[in-house]
Amino acid sequence: MSYHRKVHLKKLFSWKNEAGEVRDGFPCFSYWICFFRFCIGLQGKEYRMDKIKQEIIRTGRWIKEQKLTWGTSGNISAREGSMVYVTASGTVMGDLREEDILVCGLDGRVIDGEGKPSKETGMHLEVYRRREDVQAIVHSSPFYSTFCACSNLVLKTNLFIESMYYDEAVKYVPYFHAGSKELAEAVRDICGQCHVILMEHHGILAYDKNLAECRAALEVTENVCKMNVLAQMGGIALQEVPAETVKDFLEGGYYKKRRIQNG
Ligand SMILES: [Zn+2]
Repeated sequence: MSYHRKVHLKKLFSWKNEAGEVRDGFPCFSYWICFFRFCIGLQGKEYRMDKIKQEIIRTGRWIKEQKLTWGTSGNISAREGSMVYVTASGTVMGDLREEDILVCGLDGRVIDGEGKPSKETGMHLEVYRRREDVQAIVHSSPFYSTFCACSNLVLKTNLFIESMYYDEAVKYVPYFHAGSKELAEAVRDICGQCHVILMEHHGILAYDKNLAECRAALEVTENVCKMNVLAQMGGIALQEVPAETVKDFLEGGYYKKRRIQNG
């Protein structure tokens, strides 16, 4: 090794002890452990960010493939600690890219990303603020769910296994303009009582502990609405599972743990 290279290396690994003397070699183990932990921590954060964005992109694509949206309708968000990942304004569900997902604080301030978050972000944030258990939200306008949200049809939901669980409680909010404070407040006031909201003349909002559960709720509710509409059209009497049996199903450990307490 050349003399100069040796000097550089020496400088790199030199350090001062408590008495102020310059010493050679590695400072101490804890220094290196801290350094490596810092690097791993940074990578871990990046990795989690990337994972959340990818999951949102996957969800958008799935919504489009399942024909659960149209045009630029719909938006998706996911929470990580005090940060909320949300799709940007004007994005198309089936065509999301990483740069279409912004990071906001719970106060709506944009922390990371270019452009504007969806104009319905306020509605998502109200749910996150009100419901600590909620980690993901999907909003869309599937045909039959929106159809039911435009009618006075009394929705029958105790029809099959998944519907008894995901649609145990479906609540409605009246029409307010998309992105308005009034709509966000109406959702805030009711979101504690259910996991699925039908927004009249607008669409559906599903929220849960992760995006997989939101996707399931969206699909199940759309099928429930389709059954209700087809039954109505065909003059078929849709039979529901009796209330006592539904209660036994939800509380007896036959499916997932019941989410709504004192239901
Ligand atoms: Zn909307």
